[in-house]
Amino acid sequence: MRFTARDVTPKAGICHCEMCRRWTGSALIGVTVDKASLSWDGTENIAELQSSPWAKRAWCSKCGSGLYYEVTAESPFAGTQELPIGIFDDPDGFEIINEIYFDHKPDSYAFAGSDTRELLTRQDCIDKFSVPNGA
Ligand SMILES: [Zn+2]
Repeated sequence: MRFTARDVTPKAGICHCEMCRRWTGSALIGVTVDKASLSWDGTENIAELQSSPWAKRAWCSKCGSGLYYEVTAESPFAGTQELPIGIFDDPDGFEIINEIYFDHKPDSYAFAGSDTRELLTRQDCIDKFSVPNGA
């Protein structure tokens, strides 16, 4: 599975929601990419799951790597996918701009620099993004 992304803004966000925690094994560090700027090789290996009423998650059926999170409900995120930073060939140089569901972060780990970025609780996310429960 390979992808090419053009015009990627080198910013990432961290999601501590329970679904991302279980999906990734810790937290999702995601990079928002316009679907129009993405091309995938080996699309026959993309497995998708509608993981909630408002979003789906995809992974590679050959190697198991998480590929993207995509909001399927009407939202400001329409037309984008959230790609785990770890699947980029070069994951260096991204600025982490926020952490969401910060109140769901386990106390056993933390990311450096969290005192310098926007931190949103679950309730903040519900208020800001109209996401009903979990991201
Ligand atoms: Zn999440």
